Amino acid sequence: MTEISNEKISRWVRPQIRALSAYHVPPAADFIKLDAMENPYHWPEAMVEDWLAVLREVSLNRYPDPSPAGLKASLGEAMGVPLDKDSGQDVLLGNGSDELIQMIALTLAQPGAQPGRVILAPEPSFVMYKMIATFTGMEYVGVPLAEDFALDVDAMLVAIEQHQPAVVFLAYPNNPTGNLFDRGAVDAVIGAAPGLVVVDEAYHAFAGDSYMGELGKHDNLLVMRTVSKMGLAGLRLGLLAGPSEWLAEFDKTRLPYNINVLTQVSAEFALTHREVLDRQTRQICADREKLMAELQALAGIEAFPSRANFILFRVERASEVFESLKAQGVLIKNMGTETGPLAQCLRVTVGTAEENAVFLAALQKSI
Ligand SMILES: *Cc1c(COP(=O)(O)O)cnc(C)c1O
Repeated sequence: MTEISNEKISRWVRPQIRALSAYHVPPAADFIKLDAMENPYHWPEAMVEDWLAVLREVSLNRYPDPSPAGLKASLGEAMGVPLDKDSGQDVLLGNGSDELIQMIALTLAQPGAQPGRVILAPEPSFVMYKMIATFTGMEYVGVPLAEDFALDVDAMLVAIEQHQPAVVFLAYPNNPTGNLFDRGAVDAVIGAAPGLVVVDEAYHAFAGDSYMGELGKHDNLLVMRTVSKMGLAGLRLGLLAGPSEWLAEFDKTRLPYNINVLTQVSAEFALTHREVLDRQTRQICADREKLMAELQALAGIEAFPSRANFILFRVERASEVFESLKAQGVLIKNMGTETGPLAQCLRVTVGTAEENAVFLAALQKSI
């Protein structure tokens, strides 16, 4: 085998990439998996049979439809995008919303610009905003949230004025904190931003609030959704809604066949059975309230309010608690910091009632 020297790698790989560690997803075999905001439920057996019948008809030898109008329309409708002819709004599909974030960044990045083009987001928030800024050669500016994880409007407005971001990402509800930002604060950011504002509604199914209804009132607002957190994480399908002029530019950076044919037909199929996904979502919301009450009743746990399908909580010796849970077969997420706003914080995804009970029992043994 040929040895590849570090020197050679360093000569050719961009220093910004050398400095990164790859997005780490721990192997989950045999764990009760409450680390990744997945929906824990399967489909009824009869629905699985119907889906397999649809898959049987797929032509895997052909490229997928490069811009599936039918899927765009049905997904747009399911997500409440105002798509009537005079709205000026359209939808763009991505291989997960991660890919949409990447398309936005590829479109706005300007190699060689001094100062570089800026992505701005509150912190802590979704880690991909920063990572994708790095991949695409943009600058990243993180603005700390207030103590209670609220948007710090004054700090945001100062940072927007100072850094003139090409795009601001606001996760609504926010990940990993779980809260919805105050609408007045979000409106102030949309009003002040010189560039785009993307409201990332990955957890919309559990949130009961949305900016979709604001599309068309601002020339710089886009709303992003994904099917991942509503039970279809394996499909990799996200949607960006907003003014068609912006979407037409982002579309130029899209790889031609980004939504594969199995995803296209499976998503169409799932949307015709929405009541199944909706029922699961309602169950998860009810179980979230129960789990929250149980966590808050435990001495030594500070659980933060959530409008998503996960709960962030603080506990002494968080890393030890995390390892103890793991040893008992329960995998959650360790936010992994000793200091700062997420110090001693762990994040648990709401699972089935049984999984939540196992988690709670294991947690009680660990603290
Ligand atoms: C999970 C998540 C996403 C990514 O969703 P995919 O569609 O699976 O790529 C985007 N934004 C936030 C805030 C998330 O938590």
